[in-house]
Amino acid sequence: MRLSRLFLPTEKEDRSEAVIPSHRLMLRAGMIRQLTAGVYSYLPLGLRAVRKVAQIVREEMDRAGAQEVFLPALQPADLWRESGRWDHFGPELVRLRDRNDREFCLGPTHEEVITDLVRREVRSYRQLPLTLYQIQTKFRDERRPRFGVMRGREFTMKDAYSFDATEEGAEESYRKMYEAYNRIFIRCGLRFRAVEAETGAIGGSFSHEFMVLAQTGEDIIASCTHCGYAANVERAEVRPKKAESSSWPESPPPKKVPTPGMRTVEEVCGFLHVEPSRLIKTMVYLADGRPVAVLVRGDREVNETKVKRFLGCTELEMADEEVIRSVTGAPVGFAGPLGLARGDSLPLLADHEIRWMRDAVTGGNEADTHYVHVDPGRDFQVSHYGDFRNAVSGDPCPRCTEGTLEIWRGIEVGHIFKLGTKYSEAMGATFQDENGRERPMIMGCYGIGIERTVAAAIEQNHDKDGIIFPMAIAPYHVLVLCIQTDNPQVSSTAERLYWQLMEAGVEVLLDDRDERPGKKFKDADLIGIPLRINVGERILKEGKVELRHRATGEVEKWPVDQVCQRVEEIVRDQTQRDPGSNRRI
Ligand code: ATP
Ligand code: MG
Repeated sequence: MRLSRLFLPTEKEDRSEAVIPSHRLMLRAGMIRQLTAGVYSYLPLGLRAVRKVAQIVREEMDRAGAQEVFLPALQPADLWRESGRWDHFGPELVRLRDRNDREFCLGPTHEEVITDLVRREVRSYRQLPLTLYQIQTKFRDERRPRFGVMRGREFTMKDAYSFDATEEGAEESYRKMYEAYNRIFIRCGLRFRAVEAETGAIGGSFSHEFMVLAQTGEDIIASCTHCGYAANVERAEVRPKKAESSSWPESPPPKKVPTPGMRTVEEVCGFLHVEPSRLIKTMVYLADGRPVAVLVRGDREVNETKVKRFLGCTELEMADEEVIRSVTGAPVGFAGPLGLARGDSLPLLADHEIRWMRDAVTGGNEADTHYVHVDPGRDFQVSHYGDFRNAVSGDPCPRCTEGTLEIWRGIEVGHIFKLGTKYSEAMGATFQDENGRERPMIMGCYGIGIERTVAAAIEQNHDKDGIIFPMAIAPYHVLVLCIQTDNPQVSSTAERLYWQLMEAGVEVLLDDRDERPGKKFKDADLIGIPLRINVGERILKEGKVELRHRATGEVEKWPVDQVCQRVEEIVRDQTQRDPGSNRRI
């Protein structure tokens, strides 16, 4: 493709709405344009990168024995009523009515549709196992569409579904997908981790998220410095450890002290000159509408997923001012465990660490007061001690005895899930086993965000000048940059190289624009094509051209008649289908 013809509206300036590098660069490099919040058009360069990822995904799905199908986005509400999700999915589901007033949704995911298809066609254990996948548009009315295509309201997902006759079979199907996902993200050139993920209401322990490591990730993950343990912080277990302070002597009796207007941990600690680790934070929640208080150390965060799981509730939300006032008798910021109404009316959950605290500070359940000298074991009763906080860096690993946890930020690009029989039971997807008995199929589901993977790759691979595409997902492999278009020898050499490369099957762009060299170099860096051949007067006198690597800035000089072969070699090397197993981080 010639740049003089390519629909590539690059921009010099960042747009103010774009806060993370991938969003900024995808806009500036002319890959995408927003139509409305969370809805994007893909321009030629963006589309090519998206297609590259989709193709890698397709090859690896096929290799793992999955078969490609294509399912409708428009789905009847009745199917969603069968699974119970019409009422439970909430406002993320895009709902609509047809001219006859029948209800529909635009699929945010396809468990219902695939289960319906399979229940009609599969009758016998002989037809199992079966794994089907598609690469298709999803619709989710996200509460906060943001970060460009990372969290869109319309996006492309590869979703796969497995159907098995036995538990062992289902685990095998899961394992195959786990491996396929590893291969996919290695081939895309990403640094990532597969982490144990929360299974939510569905239960069971088979769920992994594939996280691309990036500062701007919305997810937080914990991994062990020693063993292979890695989990989403939502789920990462914290092993209780006995703090040194447990051997400290008892403190004097609790005493109320004035803390005028001091509500936050920082304010109280600053005012009373204590470390946040000496404060007991009392968080009041509504669990399915009933108040519950959770205690964690002042320097810790409550893990709401763990609290939810412990209580077995479906909704957990922070109590508002009014509820807090009614259960603590004080305005927000002064809640504490001493003298709180307890028992059935207000369960008091406390993180393990609270048990060992001495001489702590807590809210006084009265405006502008706190207690000091509080010893949890002595001064108040807790309904339950448990693991209710987020893991932090340095916590001991919950699996091995040697390692500690490190905290990373990640972008979830894929999620695999052993569903069990949730959908097959609800929707009657059964088969006859060897003994003629009717049994529900055991299912798994497996998603990858295609555009999110492209964005995550850019998030990991860019510099101040622009994108640095990994070869395997780059829109083009090489850019031939003609420095002096008005010099016939230069432009004919560039032209010749362009044709040679194309004939060799290399994906090539030719910058034949009548622009200043500076502008051409800037655009080249911005759009991040991995290799660039500079064809210019000076070096052409020696019969040579420059071959520049976008990632390293390294420049090789090659005779004109040899450079194509060198490019072919590099491209072949960097787009290998068999990435090997040792390139994980
Ligand atoms: P998140 O927690 O980020 O909302 P999710 O758990 O809702 O993700 P899944 O339902 O597991 O995501 O979807 C599978 C994959 O689809 C995700 O791993 C992600 O890569 C992609 N994905 C999900 N929501 C979006 C979105 N709004 N925009 C782009 N990609 C998305
Ligand atoms: Mg989501």
